[in-house]
Order: sequence, then C-alpha cells, then structure tokens
Amino acid sequence: MQALPPGSTIGILGAGQLGRMLALAAARLGFKCHVYNDATGPACDVAAATTLGSFDDEARLKSFAATVNVVTYEFENVPVGAAAEVARIKPVRPGLKALEVSQDRLAEKRFVSEMKCPLAPFAAIAGPDDFREALRTVGLPAILKTRRLGYDGKGQMRIETPPDMPAAFAAIGGAPATLEAIVDFVSEISVLLVRSGAGETRFYDIPINRHDGGILRTSTVPCDLPEPHQARARAIAGELAAALDYVGVLAVEMFYVGVAGAAPLIVNEFAPRVHNSGHWTIDACAVSQFENHVRAIAGWPLGASDRHSDAQMTNLIGPEAGDWVQLAAEPGACLHLYGKGEARPGRKMGHVTRIKARSGSG
Ligand code: AMP
Repeated sequence: MQALPPGSTIGILGAGQLGRMLALAAARLGFKCHVYNDATGPACDVAAATTLGSFDDEARLKSFAATVNVVTYEFENVPVGAAAEVARIKPVRPGLKALEVSQDRLAEKRFVSEMKCPLAPFAAIAGPDDFREALRTVGLPAILKTRRLGYDGKGQMRIETPPDMPAAFAAIGGAPATLEAIVDFVSEISVLLVRSGAGETRFYDIPINRHDGGILRTSTVPCDLPEPHQARARAIAGELAAALDYVGVLAVEMFYVGVAGAAPLIVNEFAPRVHNSGHWTIDACAVSQFENHVRAIAGWPLGASDRHSDAQMTNLIGPEAGDWVQLAAEPGACLHLYGKGEARPGRKMGHVTRIKARSGSG
C-alpha cells in the first residue's frame, strides 16, 4: 500500500464524535477530512468538507468518493451498500467484511465461533417459534439482543424466566435477535489494536471498562489482569483482525471471568473502528488510537502504541458535561467536549481523561 502524502483527503462515513477525533488526528498529520453523513454532527465542525446525503443516494456517494483518496467509517451501522458503492471508486479501510460481520450480532458470533474464540452460548431468534429451543441451548439468565442497530445497551432485554421471553421480544420490536447467556464476569476489558496493510499489528494496553446501564462509564489503565490472560486477550483480537484482513484500529470487547471459568476470557463483540474505550490513548500515549487509525488507512508507518501515563477516562453523559469549568480547572484532567447541542440523558457529550505518572505495572 502506497503512503498517502500529507494534503490528501480522508473520507469519513459518519459524523459523530469518533469522526471528530479522527479528523482532529488527521489534521495533525496534514490531511484533510471530508465527512459524509445523513445529518450534521460533531465531526462536521472540524472537517474540511461535509456532504449531507442519505446512505442510499448513489449519485451523492459517488461524487463524495471522487473527492477523497481513501475512505473510512466511524460507526459500524453504515449500510454495507453505501460502503460498497464508495469502494468501487476509492479504497475503504477497514474493508467491507469487518463492517458486514460486525453490524449483525448473529453473523459476528458465528464468525467469532468459527475462529474458535471463546463466546457465551448463543442462539438465533427469528420469531416466537425459536424461543423454546433457544432457551434450551442458552440457559438462564440470558440477554435478548437485536441482531442489528443495537448500541449502548439499546435493543437488549434480560430474561430471567422462560415466560419473560414474549414480552422481551415484543419490547425489542419483534426484530430478529440473538439470545445469549449472561456471563458472570469479574471485569470487562477491551483489546485495542492497530493493523497495517502489511499485517503489522500493535496493541494498546488493555483497559478495564465499567458500564452503567449498558453505557461505558470509565476505562482504566493499567488493568489488573494477570499478564498471561492479557496475552491471551491480545492473541484472540489479533487472530480476529488477521481473519478480517483488517486495516486500522479494531476494538474487541471481552468479559474476563477469571480463573474460575473454563476459559478466562469470553468475546462479547468487536467494533471495526476507533472505540470509546480507547479515548484515553489521546492523552496517555504518544500516538493515539485516532492517529494510528489514520496512519494505518493512509499506508503510513504505525506509531508507537506505548502508554506513558496511567489513565482513567470517564464519559461525560448528558448534563455531566455542564461541569466543564470545574473539569477544566482540575489538575491532570484532560477535557474533551464534542460540541453537541442538547445534553439529553444518556447522550455522550464529552469525556475527561485523568492522567498521572505511570505506575510501572501493566
Ligand atoms: P453490548 O451492547 O453487547 O456491548 O452490551 C452492553 C453491555 O451489557 C456490556 O458491556 C455488558 O456490561 C452487558 N452485557 C452484554 N452482554 C452480556 C452478557 N452476555 N453477560 C453479561 N453482561 C452482558
């Protein structure tokens, strides 16, 4: 893959905060970004150009593709058809396979299980006829999740007893779903890696992720997993990336069940993009996940993923971003605000990364 020279333009499908932080990192390396989305968003404020258009507007997608040198996406629910349209004209990185697999929970689980990576027992639910068999395969308690378009815990219902199933299925809109066993985990972690077009792979330190109501609350490094288990987590994520012929940053979310379970780690899901649990890399690493994603898709040498500081990233959700004055005054707190208008409950408005001198472990 030939390196794109500074001055080239990176196309971004999607206009959220991940696109915003990608565009900021790209600008630092002398790139311009052109955002394509169906509505304005935080990325538009910092991009050189924005095209507003629907993801099924072929003509608009084509003219967008003509203006850029490479295209990436910042959310995994970009319709595959739109990415394929663009891919006929310019390279799309990571490729379409990662997008296709990750936007359908069932396809994702099948892919991960074909790779012989550890997963919680799961079953497909197309309709009520599947309830009985799925409950038998998966056991209880379990979680019913829509196959598509779920994020931040949306489209998910917990099932404690078999009679919960019909109401839960109705509550997720009767959409095709997966049922998966509840994992009794010690902690949640994510492996963030960056992979170049030549297959060189670098890993960030593994954060422990704490969620609240399905939404990521904090990511903390270093984590306290024994090193052999961290190595296993990296190996699993690296295998998935290689199988996807992946280029860019990949995040693989896992449950750590400790030594009690048959396997210490269970894959939850992966995101074919930069990830919320890697935001701390902006302030605690020489080269952030955003810059490394840009480097990878632009064919540049990858940057060091080493961590120079201990860090805890906390999402600022809804009205919490209103504390910006106090946060801005706090020593060691690195404040990031996404420029979003209304601070609706559950909306990620920004994040703060608190850093301190590296402790040596991890
Ligand atoms: P997801 O959208 O699949 O990432 O789920 C959001 C959050 O719900 C996860 O980060 C976990 O905290 C929780 N969760 C999801 N699936 C499971 C599971 N099978 N067992 C236990 N907790 C889960």
